[in-house]
Amino acid sequence: MKKKRNFETDAIRNQHERTPFREHSVPLYLTSSFVFDDAEQARAMFADEISGNIYSRYSNPNTNEFIDKLCQMEGTEDGVATASGMAAMYSSMAALLRSGDHILACRSVFGSTHQILNTIFPRFGISHSYADITEPDIWEAKIQPNTRMIFVETPSNPALDIIDLEWLGKLAKKHNLILNVDNCFATPYLQNPVKWGAHIVTHSATKFMDGQGRVIGGAVLGTKELIKEVRFFTRHTGPSMSPFNAWVLSKSLETLAVRMERHCQNAMALAKYLEANAEVLKVKYPFLESHPHHALAKKQMKLGGGLVTFEIKGGLDQGRKFLNALSMISHSPNLGDTRTIAIHPASTTHSKLTEEERAAVGIKPGLIRIAVGLEDVSDIIDDVEQAIAASK
Ligand SMILES: *Cc1c(COP(=O)(O)O)cnc(C)c1O
Repeated sequence: MKKKRNFETDAIRNQHERTPFREHSVPLYLTSSFVFDDAEQARAMFADEISGNIYSRYSNPNTNEFIDKLCQMEGTEDGVATASGMAAMYSSMAALLRSGDHILACRSVFGSTHQILNTIFPRFGISHSYADITEPDIWEAKIQPNTRMIFVETPSNPALDIIDLEWLGKLAKKHNLILNVDNCFATPYLQNPVKWGAHIVTHSATKFMDGQGRVIGGAVLGTKELIKEVRFFTRHTGPSMSPFNAWVLSKSLETLAVRMERHCQNAMALAKYLEANAEVLKVKYPFLESHPHHALAKKQMKLGGGLVTFEIKGGLDQGRKFLNALSMISHSPNLGDTRTIAIHPASTTHSKLTEEERAAVGIKPGLIRIAVGLEDVSDIIDDVEQAIAASK
């Protein structure tokens, strides 16, 4: 039996098998299809009696390696690589729900996930309810006889609120529901939802997994039984990850642990700096003691993550001046990059919501979200400091 190795070791040593060329680093398999040894092998592979690559819409050595590493990291049995995080979110729901089903989701889901639930699914007879991540007491009452799935993100975006995954796991079990967790913000290095009872873990690999702002990708991970349905869905509807992106992402996973350690270390230092700045009203970071769910964050996350939010005293106007005054930090909607990125959610990513809807997911007019990168933290803090001073 294979010895159980540590996270970092598996991320590096869990590789696709070597070819007769004896390469050390796994090559890129740019091929749309694969050849059969004989007619019997072709028949058996199509009949699912033996496993093997047939066509790269179904699987490819690079996507297989990427998924094997992720399953090892999340503690899941099986998984499917997808073209984007949104393809993962959509497939994980569309493959497992039917017309007439209901989904209970946290209100603070990612913008495009909102669009799937609010606009696309109702056309197919799939309804939803939202519940606030900060009010766990109301969740159980929102479960209906036709509820099939609970979908959450923790930490939430951009409020960085935390929901208790152990409690949610128990709630899902009690009502026989599928618990689906978008684990993009935490990454499998910081948090493993299946440990607390999640059945499906979804990811945007575009963020911390790539970690360098280059490619788009996603993954759906979970139990063999559920992933079988998801694989049927993706195989026939086609949101597959390209082998090139899988190759890039699988190599990135080799350094996920060291990168996350530094993202979190830099984020914590920036959060502490901001807490001491008189121009800043409120700083939120899961591992700061002032965070409302600090104990919960400590329980289910290894470190606090790479995102920090703060509210600048002068609201919307000062927030805009702050962003315009940044000299090094990028102004962009991405996150989980080597480069530190700042965004003003109220006027950009969440501008389509009403003021009340924004307030309900914790977005004050002056809220700034910083996705802390891997530059030297003193340079990150210097830039934030001069931009705050210039915004007054
Ligand atoms: C970015 C993101 C997604 C969507 O992923 P894409 O790769 O951009 O399609 C979904 N959920 C969360 C939490 C994200 O941050």
